[in-house]
Amino acid sequence: MTDLHPNRYRTAWAGELRPADLGEGVRVAGWVHRRRDHGGLIFIDLRDRSGLLQLVFRPEEAPEAHAAAERLRSEDVISVEGQLVARDEGAVNPALPTGAVELAVRAVDLLADAETPPFQIDEDEPVGEELRLRYRYLDLRKEAMRENLALRHRTVRTIREFLNDRGFLEVETPILTRSTPEGARDFLVPSRLSPGSWYALPQSPQLFKQLLVVGGTERYYQIARCFRDEDFRADRQPEFTQLDLEMGFVEEEDVFALIDPLLRDVLALGGIEVDLPIERVPYHEVMLRYGSDRPDRRLGVEIEDVTEHVRDSGFKVFSGAVASGGVVRAIKAGGEWPRSRFDALTERAQSLGAKGLAWAVVEPDGWRSPIAKFLSEGEMTAVTAALGAGEGDAILIVADTAEVAARVLGALRVEVSDVEPTGHDLFWVVEFPMFGWNEGESRWDPLHHPFTSPTGDLDADPGTWQSRAYDVVLDGWELGGGSIRINRPDVQQRVFDALGIGPDEAQERFGFLLEAFRYGAPPHGGIAFGIDRIVALLAGRESIRDVIAFPKAASGVDPLTGAPAAVDDRQLRDLGLKLR
Ligand code: ASP
Repeated sequence: MTDLHPNRYRTAWAGELRPADLGEGVRVAGWVHRRRDHGGLIFIDLRDRSGLLQLVFRPEEAPEAHAAAERLRSEDVISVEGQLVARDEGAVNPALPTGAVELAVRAVDLLADAETPPFQIDEDEPVGEELRLRYRYLDLRKEAMRENLALRHRTVRTIREFLNDRGFLEVETPILTRSTPEGARDFLVPSRLSPGSWYALPQSPQLFKQLLVVGGTERYYQIARCFRDEDFRADRQPEFTQLDLEMGFVEEEDVFALIDPLLRDVLALGGIEVDLPIERVPYHEVMLRYGSDRPDRRLGVEIEDVTEHVRDSGFKVFSGAVASGGVVRAIKAGGEWPRSRFDALTERAQSLGAKGLAWAVVEPDGWRSPIAKFLSEGEMTAVTAALGAGEGDAILIVADTAEVAARVLGALRVEVSDVEPTGHDLFWVVEFPMFGWNEGESRWDPLHHPFTSPTGDLDADPGTWQSRAYDVVLDGWELGGGSIRINRPDVQQRVFDALGIGPDEAQERFGFLLEAFRYGAPPHGGIAFGIDRIVALLAGRESIRDVIAFPKAASGVDPLTGAPAAVDDRQLRDLGLKLR
């Protein structure tokens, strides 16, 4: 704070006054945070953006001000003038930065009065989120929320300074645009001037940032708003903010060399120390070990592949899965293992697509397990040894395709871990496959987006293609991701072909990009980071809604403005729209 131009409302920030400022003619302004009437003396804690200051009203010294103070209520807005005095020794409040002083008020101006707020600003009692969002402007008055917004500001500022120092240009890209495929549904905006035509809100600035590099910008960034019309999950917002950046003439190493120290500086704002270089782990390895491409490795419980030990088992569930190209994988976990716990985990495994879940408890004389009778002594010993399981440990086994085994055990390892995570775990995931098979739709989907550069033999099955993508994971959250891009129209069309986007459709949807690639497109690559999630992690908050000034509720509705809302018939008519 500090920099202050004195005016008729204030000559100082309330929260910054110290014993060095003692004297006459101090004026401060803000909200009545708390009022205590000591029958005679009245104390008011005044709150402004910088913090709290105790005001004291003495009936004998300033009767008018005292009478005014009697009528003040919580959240009234006032400007007061008086003498800054030292508090009596016994009245010093070491918990408050201004706790050694108080303002003996001579005059009060009531600037605006306040109705009784629907919840207390000066107390920390839990308030339902619906109410907080409905009265967000009151919620934002709370110190914790002010701190969250300040932390967000510092985060963005750190990012900007870091990139500005390295020759990046901050450039804005359109909000009214065409579909930018990031795998989500678009928000559409009807066009009044071209009835029947629609803008899409950007799911990311992906194509524009590539065009900026083609346009010679070379180093671009933006704190960009993105829109994805997805089903609402607990911690999703239909609009969110990302740091979006792109560079020309770069390879993966150049991106890592830029981002490693950027992440170090940003995470330092939350007291998180980062050792450089940030570890890089191949995709196939995280999937094998943790069953997820953004695991929280701090939870321990690693997946073991035990396929080799049961390949020829008499237990057909195992040997059959292997024979049809599948895998057998297992985790071990300590703790108490009543039958009901296995039943619950089996249900969970099935809900994730597993046919079943085999389980065992290691006992002194072998496995306690419904499948013990189907396995040989040697098989059980080998699996126990592969997992390093000891007496009392449970073993959970999935025999299925590699994808299902990863998905199921990746989820179960989180459920059975009894490790209380400490410290932080930050790493890059690299060497992604280009596509994942979409069972439901029977087609390939890009693991990143279709503009990511593929590697490998492009004449071979697309399932074998690798991509030049990379993600950053912190404590089980994907902080960001990006890739080295395609810069040749023929390669871009190869990827579109693999996705079932033929030349005509490609021309229709992305002709402008393919065309741009014909006019001298340098090799380029970039990345994007979710600002909301990063700030929430830095603030130690579970929910990103706590670090967004005006978020939507979990239902996607904004309780403050009532958006989304109906529009009147004339607006619809102007747009040439009719509701069904
Ligand atoms: N466009 C990607 C995203 O928004 C990031 C990138 O590839 O740079 O997730």
